[in-house]
Amino acid sequence: MKKIANYINGKLSAPASNQYIDNYNPATGSVYSLIPNSGDEDVQFAIKSAREAFDSWSSLPNAKRASWLDKIANAIESRMDELALAESIDNGKPLSLAKSVDIPRARDNFKFYATAIMHYASESHRTGDGIINYTLRKPVGVAACISPWNLPLYLFSWKIAPALAAGNTVVAKPSEITPMTAYLLSEICVEIGLPAGVLNIVHGLGATTGNAIISSNEIDLVSFTGGTSTGAHIAKIVAPKFKKMSLELGGKNPNIIFDDCDFEKALKTTVHSSFENQGQICLCGSRILVQRGIYEKFKNAFVEQVGNMRIGNPLNEDSQLGAIVSKPHFDKILSYIEIAKSEGGKILTGGIPISLADDNKDGWFIAPTIIEGLDQQCRTNQEEIFGPIVTIQPFDTIEEALELANSTEYGLAATIWTSNLSTAHHVADKIKSGIVWVNCWLLRDLRTPFGGMKNSGVGREGGWEALNFFTEPKNVCIKF
Ligand code: NDP
Repeated sequence: MKKIANYINGKLSAPASNQYIDNYNPATGSVYSLIPNSGDEDVQFAIKSAREAFDSWSSLPNAKRASWLDKIANAIESRMDELALAESIDNGKPLSLAKSVDIPRARDNFKFYATAIMHYASESHRTGDGIINYTLRKPVGVAACISPWNLPLYLFSWKIAPALAAGNTVVAKPSEITPMTAYLLSEICVEIGLPAGVLNIVHGLGATTGNAIISSNEIDLVSFTGGTSTGAHIAKIVAPKFKKMSLELGGKNPNIIFDDCDFEKALKTTVHSSFENQGQICLCGSRILVQRGIYEKFKNAFVEQVGNMRIGNPLNEDSQLGAIVSKPHFDKILSYIEIAKSEGGKILTGGIPISLADDNKDGWFIAPTIIEGLDQQCRTNQEEIFGPIVTIQPFDTIEEALELANSTEYGLAATIWTSNLSTAHHVADKIKSGIVWVNCWLLRDLRTPFGGMKNSGVGREGGWEALNFFTEPKNVCIKF
């Protein structure tokens, strides 16, 4: 069985303990590879290697670091099919999605920051005659980058690329649930001869390996994407040490559909924004709010289209939904369906696990589910489920829509469907979320600030926001 290796100090290596964790294929429910169960010794070695590589990496001209990032991007491009297949097998997502979204985006993250660092400039302020201030922006040091399982290489590279571009060295941990493409990235780094210690990838469990990384006094900042409770735990450890932190956390995103929307576009996109990647995208809308005038029509059409979605082997070209990422997550999602029922929810479609045939008979599949009749304050409408489950609720006025949309502890993303410009601007202004899409969903421009409000996180990624985060500003005031 294939054994994944750590990538530390430029070499692929086994964990010091020689202990491994099972890695499952969610579409078959079987173990197909082994992941290093890295311990403190591996983590300390990775941090030491990153520290030793920092001086030479941070002193390279931007153009040289940019060309290393370009080499990584080109190598991802040349192994696109292999990476997409690995992502689909490891995560359970449809291969078509890994091919069209995940891996191209991982390539683009490196390409984007290779270019961005060449255009990154710091400020200068003329304060008065003979006085000038200028800002130096220097890399911070060793960056700890921790990412989740839902968009494995996409989110892993979204952190690593700006960290490296800005001149930091990195110790990174992918989710233990989906480590394969991070491992393939380390093969790429070996292949292209990335200098030793610049990027270190340590595999293992969050509570041990991840915790050892973020608890070390030798790291200089933490960039984390994952659940809100893990984020709170990390903040408790990192904040008292006054290290920089960026936390991209959970969501419970509203999708607000007004009577005057383009009905067909709103319907088609809502099917995607609810169930893409089995609903396991932090930006998926999970609360569908529909204005009363079109509520019944929208609900019926939505239920019909969702009921016809094809769930299948993720490797089949025509599968629209694949498997849920892990057995514990599968059980958690099913438990929320029971909670919704006990809260009085009516299942309009789905609500059941799906048994497929042959090799996929033990895989973790759940039918896309729409639930109606729940109060906004119930657990189903308040807690992040992160699976193929949405609720649908009617509203009458803009004020009521805003009240419903804003009444959770989260504030990551929102989608608005209307043909009225004033309504769009008003709702976008008043809604408490870091990202708002109007008449579209998941259109991404890598220059824009990315992140959430309230319990959805602290800080922003993307564009200059990431480069500002991964650098330390120092103001110099000169009187001449
Ligand atoms: P988790 O919080 O469980 O894990 C995220 C990462 O943190 C994993 O690599 C995990 O390792 C690691 N980890 C867990 N405990 C610790 C610890 N004590 N110290 C350091 N690292 C730790 O999230 P999930 O992987 O379950 O991802 C789903 C969550 O991510 C959802 O809440 C989703 O909304 C959120 N998310 C947010 C996004 C955003 O941009 N705001 C984007 C995508 C997802 P391991 O897996 O090995 O336990």
